[in-house]
Amino acid sequence: MSAAELAGIVVVGASLAGLRGAEALRRGGYEGPLTIVGAEPHRPYDRPPLSKHVLAGELAADATGLPALAPLRARWRLGQPTVGLDRADRIVRLADGTRLAYDRLLVATGAEARPWPAPTGGTLTGVFTLRGRDDAAALRAALAAGPRRVLIVGAGLIGCEAASCCRDLGLAVTVVDPNPTPLARSLGTGIGGVIAACLRDAGVAFRPGTQVRAFEGDGAGHVVRARFADGGAIEADLVIAALGATRATGWLAGAGLRADAGGLTCDAACRALAADGTPCPDIYAAGDVARWPIPVYGGRLVSVEHWGNAVEQAGHAARNMLAGPDDQRPYAHLPAYWSSQFGINIKAVGLTDGADSVAVVQGSRASRRFLAVYGRAGQTIAAVSFDQARWLPAYADAILAGRPFPPIRDATDRARPESLAPGFPSPRAVSADEFAHA
Ligand SMILES: Cc1cc2nc3c(=O)[nH]c(=O)nc-3n(C[C@H](O)[C@H](O)[C@H](O)COP(=O)(O)OP(=O)(O)OC[C@H]3O[C@@H](n4cnc5c(N)ncnc54)[C@H](O)[C@@H]3O)c2cc1C
Repeated sequence: MSAAELAGIVVVGASLAGLRGAEALRRGGYEGPLTIVGAEPHRPYDRPPLSKHVLAGELAADATGLPALAPLRARWRLGQPTVGLDRADRIVRLADGTRLAYDRLLVATGAEARPWPAPTGGTLTGVFTLRGRDDAAALRAALAAGPRRVLIVGAGLIGCEAASCCRDLGLAVTVVDPNPTPLARSLGTGIGGVIAACLRDAGVAFRPGTQVRAFEGDGAGHVVRARFADGGAIEADLVIAALGATRATGWLAGAGLRADAGGLTCDAACRALAADGTPCPDIYAAGDVARWPIPVYGGRLVSVEHWGNAVEQAGHAARNMLAGPDDQRPYAHLPAYWSSQFGINIKAVGLTDGADSVAVVQGSRASRRFLAVYGRAGQTIAAVSFDQARWLPAYADAILAGRPFPPIRDATDRARPESLAPGFPSPRAVSADEFAHA
């Protein structure tokens, strides 16, 4: 099969954004050739259950397949990462040497777990990261074998969800993080303190303000301890490095696009930007890999790692891929995510970056059932609920409408909202290379 025969639309990344984007192309009336390239050998599957039901043993890792929502009639190239992009000839190169021609390209390569560096113990057995289905299956098997002490490095969403599962399995768990509370980077220490209390009550040993310097192994190369920057150490025979993610853009090096470990920059219509800042009319991006100007926050560039964005942005990019140059609609999305841990359903809308105020407007932190709102310069920018999501859509509307902070009258169940210090760690306190929230 020659490259030319394969022209049409090529989707790179066979996961949530790739699948939903491909389906949107078909639903939008695209009848031409459609090729989906995936680095993993698996058909698209869902990641949120991996750090929840799969680790807990409630769901097998291979039972996480995403349902098909539309007939695709696609050519699948699985287990075959793209390694390069030649924009002038409209060719993507696969690892096996195949050259795939495209008329239009959807980049949906997502993100990768930031690995622990090899020279400081990253290659020891018993040290895990969690991003994909195979990671989850291996980690689940290791947890089921009953390690003596689990160490989780990084108290972001994935670190905390994993800690919650480990306690449900009755395992001894320590969580370390350089920040004063869990989830400090995403929710601030005022709200993160609630999760710290959950960890404590569940029997997790939480060590804030702690940096791991290295992991040490036994003679067989299995991890036995972590050495801290302050000289202390802890014994652990299973480590989960939950250090956040970097965007999967390595294959775009040399393609002349604005791409780096923080994402592939797009314009408002989800078109990838060339190095000189002009949008490429034939290359779009969606999902975790995309960095886009978000209208609700003044058009600043953001990339988010949220399920809902992957679905919505993929649909939007697909719509624009099928539209003419004069009908490229801007992507207007309000980020939102959920998490479940320690029996609590956390839901959040908006971005907390730069928040200078936080107020609990419903419920209380003590009851672990509340809704908190974030403000910046007198404007409502984000909200988070712990088992209290009823009013979240109203706050999402307030954020989109640029309503003032403090928030909506009549959407509080307290005489006066409880004001908190937001407590976001200074960006310089922890380098992104050390670890971030997941
Ligand atoms: C453990 C876990 C739990 C999560 N829980 C939640 C949650 O509770 N709530 C929430 O909102 N979000 C959650 N997320 C985030 C959510 O799953 C992601 O936002 C979503 O998966 C993004 O979809 P995507 O398709 O953009 O990227 P990905 O899912 O990362 O998929 C990208 C795909 O591209 C492939 N790929 C990469 N490079 C190449 C290449 N060069 N060639 C071909 N293929 C390539 C990858 O192998 C991968 O299959 C979680 C994520 C993880 C990892």
